[in-house]
Amino acid sequence: MTEIKLYNTKTKTKEVFKPLDPNNVRMYVCGPTVYDRAHIGNARPVVVFDVLYRLLREVYGPDHVTYARNFTDVDDKINAKAEETGRSIRDITDETISWFLEDMGALGALEPNEAPRATEYIPEMIAMIEELIAKKFAYEEEGHALFDVNSYEHYGALSGRSVDDMIAGARVEVAPYKRNPMDFVLWKPSTGIQPGWDSPWGYGRPGWHIECSAMSRALFGKTFDIHGGGLDLQFPHHENEIAQSCACCGEDTFAKVWMHNEMLQVEGKKMSKSLGNFFSVRELLDQGIPDEVIRFVLLSTHYSKPMNWTQDKIDQAERTLAKWRTLTFGRKPTRKVPEKIAHCLADDLNVPSAMFFLRQYARDGRAEELLSGANLLGLLTPEHGNWFSLGEHNINQNAELNRIIEFRQKLREEKDWAGADEIREQLALLEIVVADSREKSAAYLEPAILLNKTMNSIVKAFAADDKAEFDNLVKKAKEIGINEPLAKDGRPRVWSQREVKKVGEWIEGQLLKLVEKLEGLS
Ligand SMILES: [Zn+2]
Repeated sequence: MTEIKLYNTKTKTKEVFKPLDPNNVRMYVCGPTVYDRAHIGNARPVVVFDVLYRLLREVYGPDHVTYARNFTDVDDKINAKAEETGRSIRDITDETISWFLEDMGALGALEPNEAPRATEYIPEMIAMIEELIAKKFAYEEEGHALFDVNSYEHYGALSGRSVDDMIAGARVEVAPYKRNPMDFVLWKPSTGIQPGWDSPWGYGRPGWHIECSAMSRALFGKTFDIHGGGLDLQFPHHENEIAQSCACCGEDTFAKVWMHNEMLQVEGKKMSKSLGNFFSVRELLDQGIPDEVIRFVLLSTHYSKPMNWTQDKIDQAERTLAKWRTLTFGRKPTRKVPEKIAHCLADDLNVPSAMFFLRQYARDGRAEELLSGANLLGLLTPEHGNWFSLGEHNINQNAELNRIIEFRQKLREEKDWAGADEIREQLALLEIVVADSREKSAAYLEPAILLNKTMNSIVKAFAADDKAEFDNLVKKAKEIGINEPLAKDGRPRVWSQREVKKVGEWIEGQLLKLVEKLEGLS
């Protein structure tokens, strides 16, 4: 079994992940407050933890992982929107939840096994607050229930702050009903259009933090494996979740591993409505940026590093994915995920280095491995492929190859299958991959594929001591511009960029000859 290592924000070290129960690995991720479309920064944790979910399913089996992500559907921002629009709260939250699922689904995020709504767990929250008050970690004052941060010894441990630091650094709300300005609300009174429920402290509604403590306990029990969310939630939200849960259920309870993704910037600047660089996932999709491209860009930076969203990355991702889709068109993934890819992901979700190997597979023409590795990242999946149609993304900078593909396309339209096949075979000699759909064809030209395949067969012939084959292949290698295919010790050599370029030039020469031959024929 692949050993997974995860950076635990709580212990500030990368640790070997040992699930409490390998038959039921439990992960809780804080979800959105549902009053508006998800912006691109909101999508980052969704996509990051989706990859972790996929990895856990791969390692422990899809039936042995439970992923819960909540919807915060009681919040003052929702109340404000209801007041502003005259619509009901339920109407707004239902609509926003359906938008969220639709937009995140477009980005290839699998739906969690559990998607609890805060308003459906009010009795569980009330019960937890009652326990906290009974244990003297919380108190009641003027219709409020408040958590007493001084009563909980480890308050601030996750984010590494003391209560005094917090008071100095934060804009805390000083209120007459609070014993300490850092004490946070578990329950507060409701009036007017504010949603409310009856409670031992009067008619009111929960504070934000208690929902995750109460819902994770209801779904997972007192202890579970992984708790994730954006770094912006570390303080105060996660700090408060820990205080509530551990004060209520015991010191060694709640999440074992805490994971936080870093924030997202746009073109090097903090996203803000006033800078005009604030956009929702839906707006990006409506601009015509393919869903898969958005996912690729979000994954291209390691989750623990700040990510910079740029137009340049979008363009590059689109080119890369068009190449990958052409190369893997009509192919099947390997049954097992390539070890290198699993290994990268198991190393604290190192997606960028997994992508490095995927690029290498593409360069070497290893389509099945590329497909299988990319699938584990939720890329190159059939459901993501709508944006891509073969032949419409010009991934070839080579005019001759484009002419050959056009020529062949005509033969196919005339149902001259033998003629089309012959061209395919000619291109196969150059290790150029031709992918055909019913309507269109596309070709993928990568000189390194020819280079690597030639090198591999030379190494094989050398190892098998097949002198005739070896000499033959060495002669071939010279033809394509490689004078010394092996290192002195007989082991494969690392090619230089100059050599790849040389082989590319040779291929271009061959393509030119082929064009001349074909156009001479017609
Ligand atoms: Zn939460």
